[in-house]
Formats: sequence, structure tokens, C-alpha cells
Amino acid sequence: MKNLRIAIQKSGKLSEGSLKLLKKCDLNLRISKSNFLAKENKLGIEFLLVRDDDILGLIATHVCDFGIVGENLLHEYRSSKEPVQGRLELITVMPLKFGECRLSIAVPKKSSFKQIGDLNDATIATSYPHALAHFLTNNKVKANIVSMHGSVELAPRIGVADAICDLVASGVTLAENNLRELTKVFDSQAVLVGRKNYEQEKDRIKNEKIERLLARLESVVAAANSKYIMLHLDIKKIDELKKILPGCESPTILSLEGSKNRVAIHVVSEEDVFWDTIEKLKSIGASSILVLPIEKMMK
Ligand code: AMP
Repeated sequence: MKNLRIAIQKSGKLSEGSLKLLKKCDLNLRISKSNFLAKENKLGIEFLLVRDDDILGLIATHVCDFGIVGENLLHEYRSSKEPVQGRLELITVMPLKFGECRLSIAVPKKSSFKQIGDLNDATIATSYPHALAHFLTNNKVKANIVSMHGSVELAPRIGVADAICDLVASGVTLAENNLRELTKVFDSQAVLVGRKNYEQEKDRIKNEKIERLLARLESVVAAANSKYIMLHLDIKKIDELKKILPGCESPTILSLEGSKNRVAIHVVSEEDVFWDTIEKLKSIGASSILVLPIEKMMK
């Protein structure tokens, strides 16, 4: 396939985040009437808007080059031993820092399950049967797995299973269904997925597009939580500042007109700056503190 084509989720937990991320890369999608195909003009990339369950298959069968999915789907794909026609090794090309959640085993709040070993002989409902089977085997637990494609959280209430294994983000769904987390299977976030050999693309123009796309994504993702911080501080307090601000090994230091000891400091923090950090900066005598978001960051 000559065109660079990317599959993204049409509607669901990751669709809004995917479109937002692409927009920050200056990739504005013009969606066709069919609501299935989209194009953008800057890099000339085609997008397929599909169900997230279909994305990995579209990449494995060369219909698309890349896709944006939850890492949870990639874990499930890799854990499955079933022979799937055209099954290729798919890899995480880049973590995208949104859609953060975890796959967890949860049980009814009032049940007697306390630890993973208590699940021997229990029935667990999940949409991730292969990843769960892999996890149970690693933990030497023999349980029955029931596959469900939606509303997994209802399984214990309707008598289908003793426990569930599902994605948890805020934990509200578990709480609403009187469930509590027993153990985490793995963490997940949205990732850019591709075929293992995507770097060996022969077509020069397509290869160039891939390089430009990845550079843009990398820059936007690197900037995602990063902040540009400006403040005034006594020059003697620089070491204390370095302890408070992560990634502030070599800050820019500028002199301040009319001041001998006080300097202006500019620094990029690759982590979000919360109020408690600002309070700590105040406590070492920092003033005129400005915290600015960074849109793009090319290293
Ligand atoms: P929450 O109530 O915020 O813990 O979200 C849990 C519900 O949202 C469950 O039904 C999950 O299957 C679903 N969910 C949460 N995060 C994601 C995600 N990143 N991708 C897909 N489904 C998710």
C-alpha cells in the first residue's frame, strides 16, 4: 500500500484524544461522508475510522501502516496463541501519554476474596481472556474465564462470574457496581502501534512521511506534561531549586537589572508542576513564578 494510512478509533474512549493529538501535530482530518475515511493535506496521510477491536488486524494485514490503540489490546493480541491468518509481530512504536488506565481483577466488595490465590476455581468474566489467562498462569492460579464483549462489570451481579477483569481508569464504574480491585494485571495507555519492520519501508516518499509523522508525534508527546518555568531566586539557592524541580540540571540563569544576588531562572520541567511544587519554590524564596505550558518540544 503506497499511501501512509493510520487506523484510529471511530468512537470510544480514545477517539477524542487521538484527534486532539493529531491536531497538535498539525494534522487536521477531513472526514468523508461515509464517516469511515479521513484525509489530511499537510503530510498527505489517510486515516481509517474504525472499531478499536479492528485496528490491530488492519495493521497486521497491511491495510494500514499504524494505528492508535490502548496498549491493553496489544497485550491481548500478543497473549493470544490462536493462529490468525497473516498474524505479524506488532510493536509499540510510541507511547502517547493519554488514555491511561489499568487492567485489573475486581471482586464484589463483600466477597471473601483477599488475594489472587483465592481465585483458584473461581469464574472471572473479561474482554481480555488471553491476557488474563497469561496472568493467571504466571501467578499459578487455575480459574475459569468467561469472555464478554461489554458490560463486564455486571457479571457478578447477574451470576455470570465471581470476579471480573476489566479496564479501570477513575474507578467510578467499579464503585457504582459495588466492586473492589483485588489486583492489577498491567497498566495501559494509548500507543502508536506498527508492524515490527515498519522502519524497512522501501518507498522513499512514504518513508519520509513516516519520519515526519513520528518526529511530530514525539515532539507533541514530549511536551504533553512539560512546563516552562520562570522565576526569580537568590543565586545561592540554586541547589535547593534543583532538588525541587525535576529535570532542572542546567537552568538558564539571567541577571536582573539592579540586583546583585537575585537572578531570573528559566527551566523546562518534563513533568507537570503542581501547586505543592510552587509552594516549595515559594518556601525557598522564589518570586515572580510563571508556569507556562509547552506546545511542542524538539530535542
Ligand atoms: P472508570 O469508571 O473511569 O474506572 O472507567 C472504567 C470503564 O471505562 C470500564 O468500562 C472500562 O472498560 C472503560 N475504560 C476506561 N478507560 C479506558 C480506556 N483507556 N480504553 C478503553 N476503555 C476504557
